[in-house]
Amino acid sequence: MKAAEDQVVEDEAGYQDDENMADLKKLKSVGICTVKGIQMTTRRALCNIKGLSEAKVDKIKEAAGKILYSYFSSSSVGLLCSKLLGGGMESMAITEAFGEFRTGKTQLSHTLCVTAQLPGEDGYTGGKVIFIDTENTFRPDRLKDIADRFNVDHDAVLDNVLYARAYTSEHQMELLDFVAAKFHEEGGVFKLLIIDSIMALFRVDFSGRGELAERQQKLAQMLSRLQKISEEYNVAVFVTNQMTADPGAGMTFQADPKKPIGGHILAHASTTRISLRKGRGELRIAKIFDSPDMPENEATFAITPGGIADAKE
Ligand code: ATP
Ligand code: MG
Repeated sequence: MKAAEDQVVEDEAGYQDDENMADLKKLKSVGICTVKGIQMTTRRALCNIKGLSEAKVDKIKEAAGKILYSYFSSSSVGLLCSKLLGGGMESMAITEAFGEFRTGKTQLSHTLCVTAQLPGEDGYTGGKVIFIDTENTFRPDRLKDIADRFNVDHDAVLDNVLYARAYTSEHQMELLDFVAAKFHEEGGVFKLLIIDSIMALFRVDFSGRGELAERQQKLAQMLSRLQKISEEYNVAVFVTNQMTADPGAGMTFQADPKKPIGGHILAHASTTRISLRKGRGELRIAKIFDSPDMPENEATFAITPGGIADAKE
C-alpha cells in the first residue's frame, strides 16, 4: 500500500478547481510534488514561492497536516545506567543527553524505547513510547535486539512505540499537537516521549548569528510546549542534543572545548542534563549534572547489541 505521505498532492488536498491546480503547478515548479515534500518545506520557504500568499501557504500546510495523522500511526515496524538514573526517568520533566557524534545518544534513545515499557522500581508500571526522529536514524530492528536482551516479545515492543519522522523544526513543533492528542486519546498509557535530536533541525532551518534570536525564540516555544505536555499527561520527555566548538572557552585549559547547543534556553528547560563522552572502544562515560535530586555522578556504560548496558568492570 502506498504510504499516505507519498501520495501526490492532488489526491488528498482535494484540489480540483483551476485556482488550486495553478497552486499545485507552482509547487511542482520548485520540485514540491508530494505531501511529504510540503512537510519538508518550511512556511517561510513556501511563502517565497512566487504567487503563493501567506494565506495560501496556511491552507496548504493545513491540508498537508491532515494527511500527517496517518503517518503518525503505530510503527508496524527505566534504563541507562540504572545506577545513574535511580531506576527511572523523571516524569513530568525534560531529561537531556548531549554528546559528540557516536557517543551513544541514539542507542540510548532506542534502549529507552524498550526499558520504558518494562515495570520498574517504585511501582513504575511501564508504558508506551512516542519517538520523534529528526535525523532518520531510528531502526526498528535495533528494538528487536534490545527486546531480546530483556526477554520481551518483538511485536509487543514494536507495537508500543509510535514513530514519527520530523522534517523541519516547524514540522517538529506541529507533531507535538499529535503527540498531545495521542496522550489524551490513550490516557495514562504513554510514559515517555523521545526526541532524537531536539536541535538538529533548528540548526538547519536557522543559520548564522542573524537568525539566532529567532531560532532561540522558536526553541523556547517548543520547550515550553514539551514541558506542559509532560506535566499534563504525566510523561517523561527525553531529548538528545549535539555539541559545538566553544570559542568562549578559549581561556580555559580544556584541550578541545565543546558545549551543547541550544544555549541557556535549553539548559534551563532541561531538568536533568547528562553529558556523554567516549571511553575506550564501545565504552562511554555518562555524567549527570544539573539534576534537582541527584548528585553529580559519573558512570561508565557500554554500547552492546542489546542496547546500553552497564560496563563489565
Ligand atoms: P550522532 O551524534 O552521530 O547522532 P550518537 O551519539 O547518536 O551520534 P549512536 O548512533 O547512538 O551515536 O552510537 C553509535 C555507536 O553505537 C557506534 O560506536 C556503534 O558502533 C554503536 N552501535 C550501533 N549499533 C550497534 C549494535 N547493534 N551493537 C553494538 N554497538 C552498536
Ligand atoms: Mg544519533
